[in-house]
Amino acid sequence: MIELKPCPFCGSEVKKITGAFKGTQMFVCHKCGADVCFYGAEREPKATEAWNRRAKDAVH
Ligand SMILES: [Zn+2]
Repeated sequence: MIELKPCPFCGSEVKKITGAFKGTQMFVCHKCGADVCFYGAEREPKATEAWNRRAKDAVH
């Protein structure tokens, strides 16, 4: 299992949620309310890799 990178906005832990629609993975931060959706990424570890890439690349 791939470790999730923390929220790029506040550094808190994020939770992965499988969306109601097939093929949607949501990553939600309960501290600052940020959420990121990936469509068409139903097969792990694709969604988690996409999140980690986005979290790493975010510069704020
Ligand atoms: Zn956050």
